[in-house]
Amino acid sequence: MITPKNCPECKNSLEGEDIFLEFLKEYKNEAKALQAAEYFGWSEENPINFSRCIGHYGYNEDFVEEWECPDCHHKWKAEYSDVDAD
Ligand SMILES: [Zn+2]
Repeated sequence: MITPKNCPECKNSLEGEDIFLEFLKEYKNEAKALQAAEYFGWSEENPINFSRCIGHYGYNEDFVEEWECPDCHHKWKAEYSDVDAD
């Protein structure tokens, strides 16, 4: 799934906090935070950030159909590439 990095409408950045750091804040335990972050595909070599984008799910709950910007509430259709068939 491709998470948009910017809102197409207001152009605000939609990148949130680093996933590992977010979990570390929550758990205050490095091992536990790491485990949770890795579940999301985070690794030290390839850190990823949470997205601030709001996902609207369709009939299939694995699929985000539409994104919504948390700032201007603009909505747009989610795009899926052939490469990333997640
Ligand atoms: Zn926006």
